[in-house]
Amino acid sequence: MRAFWIVALSAFITVPAGVADELSAGVAVVDITPPVGYRMAGYYQERPSTGTLDPLYAKALVLKQGDRKVALVFCDLVAVPLELSADARSQASTATGIPAENIAIAATHSHTGPLYCGVLRDFFHQRTVASEGKDSRESVDYSRTLAKKVAQAITEAAAQTEPVRLEAGTAEETRISFNRRFHMKDGSVRFNPGVLNPDIVRTAGPIDPEVGLILARPLGGGKPITGLTVFALHLDTVGGTQYSADYPHVLEESLRKELGSSFVSLFGAGTCGDINHVDVKSKERLATAVIGRHLAETVLAALPRLEPVRQPELAMTRRIVDVPTRKVTPAELSDAKARIADIGTSKLPFLDAVRTVTTLDLEKAYPDQVAKLEVQVLRLGPDHAAVFLPGEVFVDLGLAIKRGSPFKQTLVIELTNSIPAYIPTKKAFGEGSYEIVNSRVEPGGGERLVEAALELLKELKARR
Ligand SMILES: [Zn+2]
Repeated sequence: MRAFWIVALSAFITVPAGVADELSAGVAVVDITPPVGYRMAGYYQERPSTGTLDPLYAKALVLKQGDRKVALVFCDLVAVPLELSADARSQASTATGIPAENIAIAATHSHTGPLYCGVLRDFFHQRTVASEGKDSRESVDYSRTLAKKVAQAITEAAAQTEPVRLEAGTAEETRISFNRRFHMKDGSVRFNPGVLNPDIVRTAGPIDPEVGLILARPLGGGKPITGLTVFALHLDTVGGTQYSADYPHVLEESLRKELGSSFVSLFGAGTCGDINHVDVKSKERLATAVIGRHLAETVLAALPRLEPVRQPELAMTRRIVDVPTRKVTPAELSDAKARIADIGTSKLPFLDAVRTVTTLDLEKAYPDQVAKLEVQVLRLGPDHAAVFLPGEVFVDLGLAIKRGSPFKQTLVIELTNSIPAYIPTKKAFGEGSYEIVNSRVEPGGGERLVEAALELLKELKARR
């Protein structure tokens, strides 16, 4: 009956030019925790899970305004491969009518989630099948169910949208994140050189202390439904063999104490390719709980200062950027094929293991020596935008986007839609160390993504 009256009344109401449609939002959460025993991601060894500290989720936010629809999904996973995002986006688009290009699927980068794709997974899987006849570690087809569950989260979120008011703003958090690359006395640059290492001269890069926040409140008032926190800090603070969403889980638990148990906390990884939680000046390691609580404290303190997103004008655009990848020589390839068997043993030291996996992945995923990397930009209103990038992006690149953006506030979220591994700056390529060995793109690839993001931001700023 209510729908009838709205239709009937609308015939008599002329909407003044420039007044936008109401903005709606819906959020849904789907459990994506694999069975115990499934291999875990994040390290260069076979690591079967032994339990669950806290469940892993795919959390979807759907925004609608008139006929414009957008979906953002944040998954408690180390990464989201292209095949998965393509499959999930297509399924969700069919189910909801949200254009696939308006869907971003990001990983939070939890190192205590499943190893379900890539060179290492394929190697462990094939080795187990060869020796046991089947892979008992993979009692489910995780990739397939994951694509379905991500699509399900989007579909459920789309089905329960309600009119909202968005609020946005930033806060500063300087206690928990550290650039992990250092200039050393011997002239080299090293990642994670160890706490109290006397050979450290100075850090090789900055952090991004900005906490980006977007909050959705029901239009009629009441407690917020959901909120997105974006912060640049690697999620590898838990370790061990139990599933965990890492510090974003603590963040959500802490926020719920203030905002209610139904509040859904979305976490987007900022550009933290070179940032982690290790303070080399202190012997004391920051615990996951401390990190999550510090972040929650900062978020909660900022909530009263958030400002309404004025003149909401939902729009999303994207570009596929062709980024050249490294060339693999036949000698490197045959070396890698021979050495992968030693992965996880002392015969293959850490950086050699990284090099081996990188070489095999370059051969498998980028045979044409080009990565087709997607950059997406979302506009919420004339002052607010978000950029979604693939890969583990160095902080300087995210900062360059924020500085160059024509929007008052720009969130930059990494690890979206595909896994091109690390995206260092040109400068870092010259310095070397782990992230460079674990990169696929040629130097300058990251700067290309920045350029594309800035062009898209400018385009959306101008578009009506
Ligand atoms: Zn990482």
